[in-house]
Amino acid sequence: MPRPTSAREAVWSIRLKREIDEILEKEAKKRGISKNDLVKSIILDWAYRNGYNKVLHFNFRNTTITLWDFLLNQTVDITYTGDKRLFCEHCRTHNCGHVYYAVTSIPEVARKVRRGEIRVD
Ligand SMILES: [Zn+2]
Repeated sequence: MPRPTSAREAVWSIRLKREIDEILEKEAKKRGISKNDLVKSIILDWAYRNGYNKVLHFNFRNTTITLWDFLLNQTVDITYTGDKRLFCEHCRTHNCGHVYYAVTSIPEVARKVRRGEIRVD
């Protein structure tokens, strides 16, 4: 059962096979984020792909797309990198729910993907 810590947060403990924990540890290290933030990023990715998350606002200026993440309750910046890919500054990866949202739901970004100006992994 989640243990409430505040009106907005719940703390869970979870049992994982050691192998899964090691995979998460490795990926978190690779991204330079905590394992806790990695798991949140993975859950948000799932939420985006399954219609549970939404973006209230976005901005596309120069090389940065700014999203308002409803579940995180904060802005998330996605950077257009030199290799024609999008990098999420929050999740520290090219492949997360925010990038997924940007390429599938922002018409200007989707157009750039179709024209090959943005590469999707
Ligand atoms: Zn992200």
